[in-house]
Amino acid sequence: MSPEKYIKNYIGGALVPAKSGAYLDNITPATGEVYSYLPDSDGEDAEAAIAAAAKAAAEWSHAEPRTRFRLLMRIADIIEQNLEVFARAEATDSGKPVTMARTVDIPRSQSNFRFFATAALQFSSESHHMPGTAINYTLRQPVGVVGCISPWNLPLYLFTWKIAPALAMGNTVVAKPSELTPMTAFLLSKACMEAGLPAGVLNIVHGLGPKAGQAIVAHPVVKAISFTGGTETGRHIAATAAPMFKKLSLELGGKNPNIIFADCDFDEMMVQTLRSSFSNSGQICLCGSRILVERPIYERFRDELVKRTQFLKVGPPMAEGSDLGALVSEAHRDKVESYLQLAEVEGGKILCGGSRVELPGEHAGGYYLRPAVIEGLAAECRANQEEIFGPVVSIAPFDTEAEALQLANGTAYGLSATVWTQDISRAQRMAEALQAGIVWINCWMLRDLRTPFGGVKNSGMGREGGQEALRFFTEPKNICIKY
Ligand code: NAD
Repeated sequence: MSPEKYIKNYIGGALVPAKSGAYLDNITPATGEVYSYLPDSDGEDAEAAIAAAAKAAAEWSHAEPRTRFRLLMRIADIIEQNLEVFARAEATDSGKPVTMARTVDIPRSQSNFRFFATAALQFSSESHHMPGTAINYTLRQPVGVVGCISPWNLPLYLFTWKIAPALAMGNTVVAKPSELTPMTAFLLSKACMEAGLPAGVLNIVHGLGPKAGQAIVAHPVVKAISFTGGTETGRHIAATAAPMFKKLSLELGGKNPNIIFADCDFDEMMVQTLRSSFSNSGQICLCGSRILVERPIYERFRDELVKRTQFLKVGPPMAEGSDLGALVSEAHRDKVESYLQLAEVEGGKILCGGSRVELPGEHAGGYYLRPAVIEGLAAECRANQEEIFGPVVSIAPFDTEAEALQLANGTAYGLSATVWTQDISRAQRMAEALQAGIVWINCWMLRDLRTPFGGVKNSGMGREGGQEALRFFTEPKNICIKY
């Protein structure tokens, strides 16, 4: 298995170009060069994929759970056997360090398949007894043809996080990866073919969101949409899908607070805060971009964070020593830089980073940016309110628990929050009051795939993970038997 110069759609069990024959450039952020091409799919390609999924639905929806289990496990095994190929493809497409792709993205993609493969065997539904009168039981049937649309930051990881539960529950899928990072989705098509997944059960359509993605969302045969991406795109998808009463799961942006109390385990907090700030160059929806620090340790924290941030190595994705690779695209680097300029206009002081890294040779055209720490921003200014999604954090002191909460909850987003304290009562009070779908106490991104995953407010609706995903991808039917 290997990447190819011309990526193909995966429709009806075959690898095919877009019907129009058109391709889009696929650029590697490490050098800024076009290195492959992906199909510029449109409504016709989406239509063909949906028709293939609809055709495959009858058989797949009735397949024994153990058949689905075996096939999903086989796909996971094939990804595992090709770990290095997948990891290098992910790093080439996204600009992330290959070490991260190798230890996080690709292993987690395997886990997604294995976790939901076993879930297919374990899944059960509810019954409600009316003593002496009747028994109700809930039949959970597949929804039918479902659409899965994912972003570029954790390409295969988030793609499979949707596809695996959808397939496990007996749905057939039309999926679209981000046009910025299509290669591992293409490799996944090959893995599915090798595993013997029946034709049409999974279809992957490549191309632009407003063209290929929109055609999937707008199609009446597609009964549910699971989307991860930006809040504005989510709003648009909701507006398209809602009049057709499609099931919707929307995992959107964040502006997550990281709240640090003076009584925390300082060393552990520093290690994890550096991770939560700059992992994947801050391009993880769960990164803590607003760091709130209790005043007695504010200066110590600031100096330590700046020191450690300056120590991080920004370099080529394939270099084993790179802590941060390249940002995903030129447009995205421009966006992050524009927020750095805005932050200064808004009164912030950039304590370190924010400048481009000029690498020699073939990497001279890559999108490298030094991680930045900003202080002095007012809570309500745009740089502190809008999602930057890059290697940029803003730090600020607070004096009381109430103030920390007010600042933490003071944005339109509500994805995740992190609290650092040794006081368990305070941790619990904070966790209850934080407006977020996920709260981490004294840790960050510690994930159990059984837990509900998602956000409140502008961070989305619905939850992924565990039973939540299994329920989303099934339609409950209550059957009442009088006796
Ligand atoms: P994006 O919204 O631009 O694109 C996401 C996907 O949607 C892509 O595949 C894109 O092609 C597609 N798309 C775009 N317009 C569409 C349309 N009209 N109809 C259908 N599909 C369309 O997001 P992005 O820039 O790829 O990703 C970054 C965003 O994703 C950030 O806001 C980040 O916070 C968010 N994100 C959220 C989570 C989460 O779990 N909450 C996880 C990762 C990323």
